Amino acid sequence: MAENNKVLSKDEWMQLGTELYGPDQTDWEFKCWFCDRVQSLKSIREEQNKGIMSKRYGKLKKGDSVSPEQCCYSPDCDYVSNGLFTTGVLVVYDPSEPHNEALKKNCCYVLPFARGMSE
Ligand SMILES: [Zn+2]
Repeated sequence: MAENNKVLSKDEWMQLGTELYGPDQTDWEFKCWFCDRVQSLKSIREEQNKGIMSKRYGKLKKGDSVSPEQCCYSPDCDYVSNGLFTTGVLVVYDPSEPHNEALKKNCCYVLPFARGMSE
């Protein structure tokens, strides 16, 4: 459970993801802050094909848009990174502009990468 926010610009976040997993973002693995589930766009798409239920969104259908960096799609966890409890990893879209964490203006919280961000 993070005490201090790690603040990354979108470019830094993209660079970190690419360093950890390569340029294909469907391979990027995120770890749920709450239940420790590791998921990627690829793993969620496989579940969509099987029609697995997620607690928050119900049955995930093929073609439903998903955000593995922000929402946990576990059948028994409904954590979202911009809800009541934040993940501690804040991505600022445009660092040259002001951002507001409370309003999620020009920024959002994301789930940490499954590798390389544990400290
Ligand atoms: Zn979870």
